[in-house]
Amino acid sequence: MLNIVLFGPPGAGKGTQSQKLIQKYNLMHLSTGDILRSEIEKETPQGIEAKRYIDHGELVPDEMVIGMISQALDEYRDVSGFVFDGFPRTTVQANRLDAMLKDKGEAINLMMSLEVEYNELVNRLVNRGKESKRTDDQDVSIIKNRINIYNERTKIVIDYYKAQDKYCAIKGMGSIDEIFQGLCDAVEAHK
Ligand code: AMP
Repeated sequence: MLNIVLFGPPGAGKGTQSQKLIQKYNLMHLSTGDILRSEIEKETPQGIEAKRYIDHGELVPDEMVIGMISQALDEYRDVSGFVFDGFPRTTVQANRLDAMLKDKGEAINLMMSLEVEYNELVNRLVNRGKESKRTDDQDVSIIKNRINIYNERTKIVIDYYKAQDKYCAIKGMGSIDEIFQGLCDAVEAHK
């Protein structure tokens, strides 16, 4: 299997690039943000709880997203690998992901982190907010809070994968195709 963590701050392009990666390498896309938004839409108890955090740009509790990933890993058994998008966002989540994969005789092959300048992130998210209904993209102070939380709580996950020699920094500025090429080069080097 080819298991990839696609990492980076909000607005780095993880969703867009995940789509391209799953097509090229025939992988399954697992985005905790997408799963959470679908729970919110369906107004499930989990969705209702998650909305309280998401609307303020805060992280939802670790156990909630870990449970969602665990369920998805059980559900999609016959796939050739996963792209984890927006997960893990804490070291606790990274540890648990390793444990869940290990139970299945699997592991993360590589963690690619998209690097984008702060002002570019804010601009991209403000623009996305104009085109989508995402509640967390509508307010610039919430957007900035999400980027701050990334810097304060999530960025450290890089060290976790660095210690395993799986971390790869990828230039996240430029055209979608240029960025994708950078990702593919890293995948080919690690396959
Ligand atoms: P995303 O679509 O990845 O930007 O996620 C949207 C929001 O969902 C985030 O701002 C968090 O509130 C929540 N979320 C998504 N993934 C996670 C995660 N792995 N851990 C905690 N919260 C998450």
